[in-house]
Amino acid sequence: MTLEEKAIELLLRSPRLAAGTILDLLDVGDREFRDMAARNPTIAKLLEARRAGELTAPKSEPTQCAACGEWFVPYAAARFCSDTCRTAGRLRSDARTKHRGCAPPRAAAESS
Ligand SMILES: [Zn+2]
Repeated sequence: MTLEEKAIELLLRSPRLAAGTILDLLDVGDREFRDMAARNPTIAKLLEARRAGELTAPKSEPTQCAACGEWFVPYAAARFCSDTCRTAGRLRSDARTKHRGCAPPRAAAESS
């Protein structure tokens, strides 16, 4: 697969870019593009989805941070509002995994 073909595969996923724009950007001719679509099932499928209007932009609706409960607009499928919260969330789930099936944590009196 050529680099152009790979790039077209990626760019076609974005509903914001028209196929014509993509071809202009990559300097790929109509004929060349039709050849690619004919031999590359991924490109063919993406074109079909575009025609059917099934291509959707990744949604960026506000979501609640899984660690601090703050509302934020996630990038892709982020569950945490910040790196700090992501670390906190990871530590918390690590702790849960560690304690699963073990004896209850030692009495607080012992550690304080
Ligand atoms: Zn947060």
